[in-house]
Amino acid sequence: MANPFIKNIDLLDVSNMLYDRDQSFADKMDREDPLRQYKADFYFPKNQEGVEMTYLCGNSLGLQSKQTQAAIQQVSEQWKDYGVKGHFNGEHPWVPFHLGLKENMSKIVGALPSEVTLMNTLTVNLHLMLTSFFRPEGRRNKILIEQDVFPSDRYAIESHLEWHGLSIEDHLIYIPKSTHNGLVDEKIIKDFLTENGEEIALVLIGGVNYYTGQFLNIPAITQWAHEQGCIIGFDLAHAVGNVPLALHDANVDFAVWCTYKYLNAGPGSIAGAFVHERHHDDRGIPKLKGWWGHDAEIRFKMRDAFKPAPGIESWQISCQPILSLAPVKASLEMFIAADMKAIRNKSILLTGYLEFLLKELKTDRIKILTPALQAQRGCQLSIFIESADESVHHELTKAGMITDWRNPGVVRVAPAPLYNGYRDVWEFVKALKKVLQIGG
Ligand SMILES: *Cc1c(COP(=O)(O)O)cnc(C)c1O
Repeated sequence: MANPFIKNIDLLDVSNMLYDRDQSFADKMDREDPLRQYKADFYFPKNQEGVEMTYLCGNSLGLQSKQTQAAIQQVSEQWKDYGVKGHFNGEHPWVPFHLGLKENMSKIVGALPSEVTLMNTLTVNLHLMLTSFFRPEGRRNKILIEQDVFPSDRYAIESHLEWHGLSIEDHLIYIPKSTHNGLVDEKIIKDFLTENGEEIALVLIGGVNYYTGQFLNIPAITQWAHEQGCIIGFDLAHAVGNVPLALHDANVDFAVWCTYKYLNAGPGSIAGAFVHERHHDDRGIPKLKGWWGHDAEIRFKMRDAFKPAPGIESWQISCQPILSLAPVKASLEMFIAADMKAIRNKSILLTGYLEFLLKELKTDRIKILTPALQAQRGCQLSIFIESADESVHHELTKAGMITDWRNPGVVRVAPAPLYNGYRDVWEFVKALKKVLQIGG
């Protein structure tokens, strides 16, 4: 099954793009931007003087849209007006509330609706997936992860090794480092899997690395893992809503993601999970059960033995937190209306512009860690600044920029296509130039 939302993405070649340093170019691009209408839907944080700041931090927490408040308000009103009857009555009854979300979410990650659900938060979903898919057997009892894995993922994995009585030292293994920039060399993954595959029960990788912004080739890595008989899962925290995904076609076993970064669903918003359809009817897979994983048709009969709901829904445990799902609903509707293809196209151009402006700067203190190839990155560029400390970050904030800082010396800048434009990128580079006192 092809993802209709990404099928036709012909990756624009930004190397042929005639970018220009002049501010008038940025303004012209903003005027002609097919997604320009969306910016007005968002609230931007202001500085102490009440001036809106330039927000380039969607990799950490996306901005609130005006539709979000309305969606929360709607649930609140329905509860007020209907009480328990809200489960089946009102504009958006709560029992089937998540069905429309599954439909929209599945399009964004390239999956069947039955393969996707919204539940819990990312690390909790990762625990549920590890419970089901880490099944060490004989010599095949190790977990393979990246060197630069997100800490929460590593903690989750360590706890499952401990749970199975396996030492972390011998059973948690890392993809060997490649030489350049801390990027992952996909060929090294392939070779490592070929050599060590039969000892590896499970591979877990970030689709887009949170630190470098590298977007890995998910279908290829999945295939290499499967050739060695390993289960493979992806953490898509930095990929979802950012890059085109086709989880079903790629044959990925499972994936988890949060919705508060590029998907703008608010702090700690309800997360997503994917389990490939080929695992749905496998009764041998262990699961942590709860009544919301039980067949919905007979859920309220309350007396039956556990009968798994179809698809990934059998991984659900508790009833749906509708108030928390309301912002996810609003956000997904916006992504579907804007269309992932248009979002990705703008993203490629916009991040290409950021890269162009950075390269024009007359300094050798700046190095972009993120891959130069657009197929290997999303919207984020991780910019390493030689001999810089956090004061650079504070100066950038004073200059009206909201970005984020990671030691040692990395500014992560993520122009989000729905609410950022070319002028934002232009203003950021202007501020960086001033803070680092770069002439020319
Ligand atoms: C943001 C992020 C998380 C966050 O996990 P939570 O459970 O939502 O707190 C996990 N993994 C990666 C790679 C992330 O970027």
